[in-house]
Amino acid sequence: MKVLVAVKRVVDYNVKIRVKADQTGVETQNVKMSMNPFDEIGVEEAIRLKEAGTATEVVAVSLGVQQCQETLRTALAMGADRGIHVKTDEELQPLAVAKLLKAVVDKEAPELVILGKQAIDDDANQTGQMLSALLGWSQGTFASEIAPENGTLHVTREIDGGLEKVDLKMPAVVTTDLRLNEPRYASLPNIMKAKKKPIDTMEPGDLGVDIAPRLTTLKVEEPPKREAGIKVETVSDLVDKLKNEAKVI
Ligand code: AMP
Repeated sequence: MKVLVAVKRVVDYNVKIRVKADQTGVETQNVKMSMNPFDEIGVEEAIRLKEAGTATEVVAVSLGVQQCQETLRTALAMGADRGIHVKTDEELQPLAVAKLLKAVVDKEAPELVILGKQAIDDDANQTGQMLSALLGWSQGTFASEIAPENGTLHVTREIDGGLEKVDLKMPAVVTTDLRLNEPRYASLPNIMKAKKKPIDTMEPGDLGVDIAPRLTTLKVEEPPKREAGIKVETVSDLVDKLKNEAKVI
């Protein structure tokens, strides 16, 4: 079984996000970028399937600027077999990503596609669902456990009320939740080996996909700063402030 894993290059989760001065988006110049944490979990899961003898090949796919190749190298150093880079400097919205991934899936014919449940930069939580709809495949989103068995994928999903178990007919699309696994760190020898693994590069035009944005960002703003709290002496002081200053009661 071939497994395709989507890996997005995003602002590192440790970075304090700054909004650009012209309010058109978030500052990404001179900012540490890394693989989306939910995608690391996706790569880890694919590699574990390979180590268990269930997956035969793990292919990592990243879409975007030239530096996405670094993200792909990280996936290769973790244990993916090869990479596919769909290169573009244009903004990619979830629908465009889903269409590009569908074109890659049509070429590669994997039995399982793993994505993160959301990218921590846009928090869209849309791409996996859109991809599964475009492919007409089953989807298991927010997965905290997956187990393939004779053409069926058993998926445990993290939902508000607890855990939900679903059986998907394969081929299928899965999106990862935090508890699916703990991704490994790439070892130095594997980082060196990853330099020799192949990365195929193509452009959206080669895949015949229209990536024109469908949404316009009007403005990006920092959240309002929190004001310092105060201590009140008595309950009646508190009630007074809630009533007359905060005006919440
Ligand atoms: P989103 O729907 O934007 O929250 O993203 C959900 C998931 O889709 C991510 O965790 C990735 O697995 C995948 N994805 C989104 N954008 C890209 C991209 N540019 N390249 C590769 N994978 C992506």
